[in-house]
Amino acid sequence: MALRKLVAGNWKMNGTRAKLAELDGIVSAADAAPGVDVAICPPFTLIDAAVAAAPSLPIGAQDCHHAVQGAHTGCVSAEMIVDLGARYVILGHSERRTDQHETDRDARGKALAAFAAGLTAIICVGETGAQRDAGRAGIVVAGQLEGSIPATGTAANLVIAYEPVWAIGSGRTPSLAEVKEMHGLIRAKLEAILGIEGAGVRILYGGSVNPGNAAELLAVPDVDGALVGGASLTAAQFVPIIEAAAAL
Ligand code: PEP
Repeated sequence: MALRKLVAGNWKMNGTRAKLAELDGIVSAADAAPGVDVAICPPFTLIDAAVAAAPSLPIGAQDCHHAVQGAHTGCVSAEMIVDLGARYVILGHSERRTDQHETDRDARGKALAAFAAGLTAIICVGETGAQRDAGRAGIVVAGQLEGSIPATGTAANLVIAYEPVWAIGSGRTPSLAEVKEMHGLIRAKLEAILGIEGAGVRILYGGSVNPGNAAELLAVPDVDGALVGGASLTAAQFVPIIEAAAAL
């Protein structure tokens, strides 16, 4: 089943308010691609201003806390993100798994909070280079999906991003055959966990997507979009990726 593509940008810890000027070109490209969903996930500090600067563009956060409120200094709840007008939240990104020692269980708790607040959770999974070299990529990703996806996930509130850790920011990507195999495995696992609803959950590929490789990656079966880091930071790089999705 061909699902509507989602091209989401993860700005990570990049950008001050001047960076929002990039949204003009991204909004124009999104408007010219009505068959594609486009989203930008800036740092928390820019969400409010991004929603104001680009009201038609879905904005997302890069994390949320599992609790609704309370004594959690420095943290941000899903409700607070919704209050700013954001619609998505990235959860379980490998950089948070490494830097903040987040686990599948953490991602699951945060996804439940996101669902309760009305956000769509983009849960990230992916193997390290050592795990792939050891032939364990499929087992690792299947385990991450089992540990992090709540049973209440639906096609509307959940997106999975397959991001091989070794491909993030490295300029390296898996072969198209490897992407096809892994996305097929993820689709089967989603259907095992969520039943028929799992057939409609979008599976994004992420890891060194750029204007040169987007078209071929997005054409792989069960690749329902892209999560883009470095190449989402400028309209010049991100717009051709939106256009590649629209051309399919
Ligand atoms: C990411 O970290 O989500 C990502 C996909 O990064 P990059 O595109 O820079 O590899």
